Amino acid sequence: MTAIRVDLWGDSITRPSSDMKRFMMAAEVGNEVEGEDPTTIRLCEMVADLLGKEAALFVTSGTMANEVAFLVHCRRGDEIILDRSAHPLHTEVGGPAALSGAITRPLDGARGVFTAAQLEAAIRPPSRQAPRPRLVSIEQTSNLHGGAIWPLEAVEAVAAVARRHGLAVHLDGARLLNATVALGVPPKAFAAAADSVFIALTKGLGCPIGSVLAGSRAFIDEAWRWRQQLGGGMRQVGIIAAAGIYALENNVERLAEDHDNAQHLARGLADIPGVEIDPAQVETNIVHFGVAGSGLAATEIRDALLTEGVRMRAIAPMGMRALTHMDVSRAGIDEALTAFRRVVDRASGTSQRYA
Ligand SMILES: *Cc1c(COP(=O)(O)O)cnc(C)c1O
Repeated sequence: MTAIRVDLWGDSITRPSSDMKRFMMAAEVGNEVEGEDPTTIRLCEMVADLLGKEAALFVTSGTMANEVAFLVHCRRGDEIILDRSAHPLHTEVGGPAALSGAITRPLDGARGVFTAAQLEAAIRPPSRQAPRPRLVSIEQTSNLHGGAIWPLEAVEAVAAVARRHGLAVHLDGARLLNATVALGVPPKAFAAAADSVFIALTKGLGCPIGSVLAGSRAFIDEAWRWRQQLGGGMRQVGIIAAAGIYALENNVERLAEDHDNAQHLARGLADIPGVEIDPAQVETNIVHFGVAGSGLAATEIRDALLTEGVRMRAIAPMGMRALTHMDVSRAGIDEALTAFRRVVDRASGTSQRYA
């Protein structure tokens, strides 16, 4: 098998750099389950500060952050309103149903972004029969919609409706920092609209493990208990929390490079005959495109690219996905584009197969 030289499979595949690993090795640690790990305490203070919240909690994953937040906000039979594409609906093994027992109410947003009016229309009036609407969850940026950004005004408008009806607001900020770097808006501005918010350390920030969930002191006190019940209490966890500190100090501003590389990839793909993409829709580090005009199925392109040392995903019969991240340079993007062109050119000789 050809070694993969340019891996655009996802932004969670980054490996910790030597500097990050050195920083992790030097971390002071303690028993985090008793709140005695100084490095994790510092990371949580940094994230709470970044997001303008009273407190924060280190958790194993973004999935645990969402599910713990739902457990704090919702009782069994309560309703969570979120976009149809939202991560908890597709990639958390039915977590909302299995754990908090909440029912989910999907909305059809525009590329993951629903409006205040859509929310308003979905909120049920108080009733003895209906589930109780309890929480609105917003995903920034929208993963399944190619990293689309929720504008600040859209988040604020949705949050205002939620509050007027007594619903809480959760921000799935797995890639919140991609949005804030792209917009030049501080993360606090988005977090201010939410009661709970998390950021992933493993999506684009270069850490091997972890997410950090933030909210009020009371929210985090409850989150701490649910994390323990889910078996997410870790002991000398400062050794990995240190990676988060390193990432927040070194790897946030550079997300702009990933966005530039994604634009470069999108423009290059747009020039390849048979590829359908609007580079203006590539707002952050996720690139979605169609290949219907290429004469090849997405899986055929994916497999042919692998033999060229380039990895992307086929996400639909004619749809593909590539993510930029800190382990892929501009030269790597150029290499991927050259390989892509070669694959499509080669196919054009055999395209009568598909005619
Ligand atoms: C990746 C992701 C998660 C979950 O994070 P894990 O650490 O993989 O569990 C949640 N929400 C969004 C939007 C994500 O992209």
